[in-house]
Amino acid sequence: MELFGDLHTHTSYGHGKGTVEENVKAAIDRGLKVVAITEHGPANLFGIGVDDAEVLLKIKAEVEECRKKYKDIKILAGVEANIIGLDGRLDVPYEILKEMDIVLAGLHLMVKTERIKDALGLFLPNSINRWTGISLKVECFREYLMGLNTKAVINAVNNNRIHILTHPGWGALIDTAALAEVCVQRRTAMEINVSHNPGHGYVELAKVQGVKFVINSDAHCPEDIGVLEAGLKLAEEAGLAVESIINAVNEGIGYRSFEEFVVD
Ligand SMILES: [Zn+2]
Ligand SMILES: [Zn+2]
Repeated sequence: MELFGDLHTHTSYGHGKGTVEENVKAAIDRGLKVVAITEHGPANLFGIGVDDAEVLLKIKAEVEECRKKYKDIKILAGVEANIIGLDGRLDVPYEILKEMDIVLAGLHLMVKTERIKDALGLFLPNSINRWTGISLKVECFREYLMGLNTKAVINAVNNNRIHILTHPGWGALIDTAALAEVCVQRRTAMEINVSHNPGHGYVELAKVQGVKFVINSDAHCPEDIGVLEAGLKLAEEAGLAVESIINAVNEGIGYRSFEEFVVD
């Protein structure tokens, strides 16, 4: 089994190091057939993401320029949107999401919210947990927190066309099985993120539901693009079939499902 694409990479439009073109060149050097440029949405604090959602269209224009120059690789313009509310709202408006070739979304804890109720009802309990580790000691708080996060992420999957849910369970407790069930219905892939692994058991739990996976680098510098061995190892250890990994191929099997996956 080998991986032909890396569908989660960042650039200097966010807190990454490379330009769009440098990412594309790095992907070509790694022998990839597909690369996606997926900058963070605007809600991240500390200048981590784009300044404004409109910047994603500028990135898309750069991707289109690169497509003219580099014909041997498929380059996708995308985003890693932030889930910023219990109702699953994203920090990128639909008008811009629909212009993207691929939409990734994830739960990051250091974000600006639109509503006080989300700041207090979702992100504050997560921050308290992060500072105190309380969920390790108090079972009911753990369940409460997991319920909040799972609700937000499931609502996001149900209410938006999300191709890939990034690093589910990393830094935020999630009911993996419940989430995977919804992802199957919505044809949303769950990510095996080489940089942000949520820990043992995640892949096994999601696999039981029959979800599709994608193995991504989440590279923030060009050198890390396509460095996917750790994710592939994890997938192989969990016994994932090539058909269940959208960016994997084995003797010609797999690529077709990928094409279907991103067209929709
Ligand atoms: Zn992320
Ligand atoms: Zn990322």
